[in-house]
Amino acid sequence: MQSKKRLFLGLFLLLTLIMLTALAYLFLFITRPDAVIFQFTFYVTTTFLAILAGLSLLVFAILVISLLRGEPLAGFSRLVQKTLVFFFPLVMQLGRLLRITSENIQRSFIEINNRLVELKMIRVPANKLLLLLPHCLQDEDCPHKITRNPFNCKRCGRCPVDKLIDMAERWQVKIKVVTGGTLARQAVNKLRPECILAVACERDLSTGIVDSFPLPVCGVLNERPSGPCFNTTVCFDALEEKLVNLLGNKTVQP
Ligand code: SF4
Repeated sequence: MQSKKRLFLGLFLLLTLIMLTALAYLFLFITRPDAVIFQFTFYVTTTFLAILAGLSLLVFAILVISLLRGEPLAGFSRLVQKTLVFFFPLVMQLGRLLRITSENIQRSFIEINNRLVELKMIRVPANKLLLLLPHCLQDEDCPHKITRNPFNCKRCGRCPVDKLIDMAERWQVKIKVVTGGTLARQAVNKLRPECILAVACERDLSTGIVDSFPLPVCGVLNERPSGPCFNTTVCFDALEEKLVNLLGNKTVQP
């Protein structure tokens, strides 16, 4: 298992252990004879915590087994992804308390998400796959409004948008360039894809994965040679490899 994945898994396990410890403490407390006044409240809290801790422990075990075996445990994929999405904000908080950078945790979460999407062997028709791109890929000085319509790009080759449109055309997938979460949600609502292949930074990708659930999102991190949100780029080979995988087609289009 790659070290990137281990970070999120480790924090997830730590969160589970914290819940189990709190549960043990609560259990000891409610069984004390002098805790009668708060007994009902504590019973409710203990039950709630027991469900959460039990669920996260179960999902942790399934997740590790799935990643090690390289195939999902039949019937548990949705439960695993739903639980990860649910616990993601708590894992982020725990990581912050431990002074781990948000970017590292988000990157680890994206890796796990991508692997789970891969293991599910999702295959979608080209017209049901949306290539979702961030506006920061566009050259800062380009005057063309590609967020309204990516095909407004004049294909001058000064920025990666040219090649990405070319990729979308070759594979006949839908393509959209967005400036943020709101436009991304609008695009998803309008185009109704069955799967999204998204390029973005750690924060936007992880948020997008959580927001889009249960729609599967496969994420590729952008590269920021000029700093964040400015003239970014992406590894075309990595992106095309994921695209081909999702389409279930190993033959590159001419
Ligand atoms: S490739 Fe398209 S988006 Fe990029 S600078 Fe040229 S016209 Fe603008």
